[in-house]
Amino acid sequence: MAVLWLDDVRSDDLETVGGKAASLGELTAAGLPVPPGFVVTAETYRTFIEEAEIDEELFEAVDVDPEDSKALAGAHERAHELIMETPFPEDVAAEILAAYRSIDDGEAFVAVRSSATAEDLPDASFAGQQETFLNVREDDLLQRVKECWASLFSQRAIYYRNQKGFEHDKVDIAVVVQRMVDAEKSGVMFTSHPSTGEPRIIIEAAWGLGEAVVSGAVSPDNYVVNRATQRTEDVTVADKKLMHVKDPETGETVEREVPDEHREERVLSDEEIARLVDLGEEVERHYGQPQDVEWAVYDGEVYMLQSRPITTISDTAVSNVENVSGGTDGAATDGEGDASAEQAGVGEVIVRGLGASPGIASGPARVVTKLDHLDQVAEGDIIVTEMTMPDMVPAMKRAAGIVTDEGGMTSHAAIVSRELGVPAVVGCGSATRQLEDGQPITIDGDKGTIREGVESKEKQRQPVEDARPKTPVKPMTATEVKVNVSIPEAAERAAATGADGVGLLRIEHMVLSLGKTPERFIDDNGERAYVDEIIEGVRTVADEFYPRPVRVRTLDAPSDEFRQLQGGEDVPREHNPMLGYRGIRRSLGNPSVFKLELEAFRRLYDMGYDNLEVMFPLVNDAEDVVRARKHMKEAGIDPEKREWGVMIETPASALQVGAMAEAGIDFASFGTNDLTQYTLAVDRNNENVASVYDELHPAVLELVGSTIETCREHGVKTSICGQAGSKPKMVQYLVESGISSISANIDAVRDVQHEVKRVEQRLLLDSVR
Ligand code: PEP
Ligand code: MG
Repeated sequence: MAVLWLDDVRSDDLETVGGKAASLGELTAAGLPVPPGFVVTAETYRTFIEEAEIDEELFEAVDVDPEDSKALAGAHERAHELIMETPFPEDVAAEILAAYRSIDDGEAFVAVRSSATAEDLPDASFAGQQETFLNVREDDLLQRVKECWASLFSQRAIYYRNQKGFEHDKVDIAVVVQRMVDAEKSGVMFTSHPSTGEPRIIIEAAWGLGEAVVSGAVSPDNYVVNRATQRTEDVTVADKKLMHVKDPETGETVEREVPDEHREERVLSDEEIARLVDLGEEVERHYGQPQDVEWAVYDGEVYMLQSRPITTISDTAVSNVENVSGGTDGAATDGEGDASAEQAGVGEVIVRGLGASPGIASGPARVVTKLDHLDQVAEGDIIVTEMTMPDMVPAMKRAAGIVTDEGGMTSHAAIVSRELGVPAVVGCGSATRQLEDGQPITIDGDKGTIREGVESKEKQRQPVEDARPKTPVKPMTATEVKVNVSIPEAAERAAATGADGVGLLRIEHMVLSLGKTPERFIDDNGERAYVDEIIEGVRTVADEFYPRPVRVRTLDAPSDEFRQLQGGEDVPREHNPMLGYRGIRRSLGNPSVFKLELEAFRRLYDMGYDNLEVMFPLVNDAEDVVRARKHMKEAGIDPEKREWGVMIETPASALQVGAMAEAGIDFASFGTNDLTQYTLAVDRNNENVASVYDELHPAVLELVGSTIETCREHGVKTSICGQAGSKPKMVQYLVESGISSISANIDAVRDVQHEVKRVEQRLLLDSVR
């Protein structure tokens, strides 16, 4: 049998039908209203290539050197040709068409979606990269099915499998064919609160097809229903300017303006909400965990289009409490654990520092003075150390919180903790001496305090929650709001914020975590290995955000950070590394390493990551820019074709931005962490002068304001990617000054979106008053 009806599919048919179809089948089987459809099974694809005897040639054709971009393109072309030009066996074609004709008598518009299977190799199918076709009818159906099969051999998929050593013939692909719902209204539903897990159902709804809501093109209505009382507690009716509808002629999805009388009309009636709530309860009960559901209303019926578990509800707070209870006096866990934690309570503030990553966490202090003690850090411990380093990241991920003696708000500990979503207090002076190993403590990453004892579970708060939308509605803003990423592991959290792209991707972490200076790493492992490391890290982020833009920055770490690595003895010992050999001056002074970074970016462009933009740090003037641009060109990156730009981090660069604009930059991004330290002569990492480190100092603002003005005159985009971009006051100043985009920390993105929107609306109002 070439096809299976969704009614006959269950979740354990994953191997035959792939993940997407298995989940639709499971929903159908649970009696939920899913639009009808069938699956062309993975065996059908396999039999097709085997019976036509193209399998061996196919797998041979794609067995190429993944680093050879020409060979990769040739492999993709050959695989595509082999599949597309091989005719369907007649019986299979007949079976697929017969199945299609039995949906709405052959009149239906259907969606044709790839559903890859690679159970043992979860990543081998290169999830999300396979094709989907909408509004397909009989004439194109067979062709589209083959195109889905061929998408298993896109250049990126071939590259990925070859590089990881996954075998091409271990991956199969099924194809779902399902009636499209010509929705009158649609949206998403969270069966529990997506950030806190509270028993509240949140529904977002807009007119027309769901793409408008899912893609963020329209601000939908928002309904909050209390699951215990079944009452609708909150209704926010949005001004819905746009809707996506099906063009009755072509069947294609087109964007239309919502007629005036419906723009501010409430989308869902009480009956429809009640029906959705019933379905939400049913689906959560069925899966045993909160779900994120896509739904649509057509002809008065509610349909469920997809259901996925909500992965954003944090359960770490629970495990922290359990951990601490068990680790101190062996008290019971679960409900009793809470009670004992409550009884333990928290005492006085014993140490103070800077609140660097928000959230409250309790756990036993784990004082780490030597790197080789890191394996002593257990899940739920609070790391107490002088300063964190890239090698510590695995331990930081296990930790419930981080405390450091040294460092400011822009130090490694602060940046990485925020991205990992772990509360942190930095620059405490002597925490490693004042706190005892094993001592139960509670840290507050907002207030910058450390108290003795354990906080109750309810009062602990992970910043991961803060990164999630408070309401799932993303405010639409004219000024783009992006996010900063320093560790590729944070890419998924960063993308989940709904940011418009990555305003700064630092590659320092990827490089420093190799444990060796770039020069030593290249000596030991070769240039190719160094380039591969950068490709791997950057690609994780570029993939997560594609097609949203990702601004990747060339290496910028001060010499003292390199000195701690293997090979660090060859790095000059500098009296003041912040004024020393770092940023573009290091790259231009040592072009052999710089060239490899640029080669990595060029290869990523070749692989299709056209969402990358290149950014140069710590430039001073047009001469730096011209030299950097020349290297970029030599590496095969066309500065006319690709977006590239610089960071404004020194007063010199702010004063010289006009000349840099003439040298061809597309954008200038404020690195206020450095701009502040170089304008005010305040070392950003020195806790002794932290009180005079002020990113909102009038001198800093004047440099920022005049740079924006000059850039506007030259048609150069402006942005901020320093820590200050997450501060409401700075956001106000920047939006008023006309900045093009703001890049914030993961946990601040949603607040910044709201702040930007507020300022934009005020400016609009002022202009008409
Ligand atoms: C900055 O200086 O503001 C910046 C974003 O760069 P970094 O913190 O990496 O120096
Ligand atoms: Mg900087």
